[in-house]
Amino acid sequence: MKNFIDLFKRRHKKKQTPAPAMSAMLRAIAMTEEQELSCDEVHALIDQFAEMVQRGEDVSRLMPMVQKHLKMCPDCREEYEALLQMMDAHAQNEARY
Ligand SMILES: [Zn+2]
Repeated sequence: MKNFIDLFKRRHKKKQTPAPAMSAMLRAIAMTEEQELSCDEVHALIDQFAEMVQRGEDVSRLMPMVQKHLKMCPDCREEYEALLQMMDAHAQNEARY
């Protein structure tokens, strides 16, 4: 039982510390939810956003502002679609080996 608790703690701890800058950024975005993101801000988040989409995570809840921006901004949408294609190609390469 103790081993199990240790394992849980380790996992929990591990989960708590992925890229601190990233979670700070996400928090900042959550706090300014009524404001719209600039293209620069979307660019900074877009690869994270694409990864979430690929993992099947709920981006409309996790990154609503990015999703909203992508709907309105053809430039960023183009960037995002190119990124998704790149990730797809990469995933296929990995599956092959
Ligand atoms: Zn944009």
